[in-house]
Amino acid sequence: MKEVRVRFAPSPTGVLHIGGVRTALYNYLYARQNAGKFILRIEDTDQTRFVEGAEEYIMDSLKWCGVTWDEGVDVGGEYGPYRQSDRKDIYKQYAMQMVEEGTAYYAFDTAEELDAMRERLKEAKANSLNYNSISRNTMKNSLTLSEEEVKQRIDSGESYVIRFKMPAKEDVRFKDMVRDWINVHTSTLDDKVLMKSDGMPTYHLANVVDDHLMKITHVIRGEEWLPSAPLHIMLYRALGWEDSMPEFAHLPLLLKPDGNGKLSKRDAAKHGFPIFPLKWQGQGEDAEFKGFKEEGFMSASFVNFLAFLGWNPGTENELFTLQDLVKEFSVERINKSGAKFDYQKAIWFNQQYLKEAPSEELVSALIKEATAQGVECDEAKAEIICELMKERIEVLPQLLNNAKYFFEAPAQYVEKVVRKKWKEPAKSTFSDLVSELATMESIKAEGFQTLFNEVLERNETHAGAVMQVFRVAVTGEAGGPDLMKIVEVLGTKEVKQRIENAVVAFNQIAND
Ligand code: GLU
Repeated sequence: MKEVRVRFAPSPTGVLHIGGVRTALYNYLYARQNAGKFILRIEDTDQTRFVEGAEEYIMDSLKWCGVTWDEGVDVGGEYGPYRQSDRKDIYKQYAMQMVEEGTAYYAFDTAEELDAMRERLKEAKANSLNYNSISRNTMKNSLTLSEEEVKQRIDSGESYVIRFKMPAKEDVRFKDMVRDWINVHTSTLDDKVLMKSDGMPTYHLANVVDDHLMKITHVIRGEEWLPSAPLHIMLYRALGWEDSMPEFAHLPLLLKPDGNGKLSKRDAAKHGFPIFPLKWQGQGEDAEFKGFKEEGFMSASFVNFLAFLGWNPGTENELFTLQDLVKEFSVERINKSGAKFDYQKAIWFNQQYLKEAPSEELVSALIKEATAQGVECDEAKAEIICELMKERIEVLPQLLNNAKYFFEAPAQYVEKVVRKKWKEPAKSTFSDLVSELATMESIKAEGFQTLFNEVLERNETHAGAVMQVFRVAVTGEAGGPDLMKIVEVLGTKEVKQRIENAVVAFNQIAND
């Protein structure tokens, strides 16, 4: 059997959309599953849309996801170069071959002439306003001009493009791996430009030539390219490559959270959540975008979330690591309909991964965040905090941000609780605790639990009356992880001090 060879072929035109990351992921999974090769090809023939830094962004994003490639601009490979701007001569050679064989032609029409053509067609109420098998006969091209004139125009340096000569009456029929059979008649297709006047190929020519030369067996890409597939198939035919044509799989669109329309950059700004893998710092209207990574998502959870945007295993199980996905992923189970981008679902996945995350990963994330915020946190403390907090957070920075009370005394208290619970016997229990703590150097969680129960008993009360207001005194908050553990981490001196501070503040709140 032929070796599976798939590719992700992004254009470095700015921040890499999450749909692109999903395309890369599905290609990667397909390659790994079939012991094939995954190629990263940079499609940068549209120089006007080139954006500095975009190529690095693409590679960094894939690396963060663990999506590794076997051939590409940085690692090389047998079928390089893998950046299209380094392959100009190759495309030119094939374009010329097509002109010679009569499947493509030179066109000299100016922008004004093209506009005039569309106007004429509009007035004549033509079905299509495009340059096609009918309208081409009225234009200035190597099909209507004499050979000498064509030669003379080219020799005199006149600008021209090379267009594909779309056959007038052919059926294009192909089986898409996701969408099943597709039928298109060439009368609905136009004579697309293959080579632009600047000598650069268009996406269509470069894409087909490269997929052929790089021996791509499966083209797995976004649904927005489905309308181009019939043209690509016609190009394979024209170039005599039909027998080795790749199979196609067009992936469903990613939709806005409400399902109305394609997910766009604007949705990121509108909803305030990330829709890109990494943070992006660009210019103009692409100035700045949040990234899943910087927002504190774990890469494994992001990948799991991404895999489910358009695919499901057909079982209840939703948790799949990259390795699991390599085993379980199947093109047959890719949905045809668009996938809604659901940020809450991304958070849900992250929570599941946080619960299971190896301690070292969380500890180093917490220490990194603490260092960034100038908070001192040693490893022993970080370990306990991570253990206590991992079930209670959505994203990594919350390890610190939702647990500030481990590092500093509360500046504010949940007043509702204070107003309700700050009375006797809570007050006497507090002073009893202060005197007990004053005599101790340190205390373990279990020890403090015993002490706390004794003090409650002595004051003829119970946990229901005191526990919550005690938590507010120590942490400022009404809820949180095991309070006994928090006391252990803070130490007797600090807890005693916090109770004393709280008593003053609580009396004030109660008197207000
Ligand atoms: N360069 C195209 C893009 O930016 C690639 C489309 C394809 O995979 O054929 O998405």
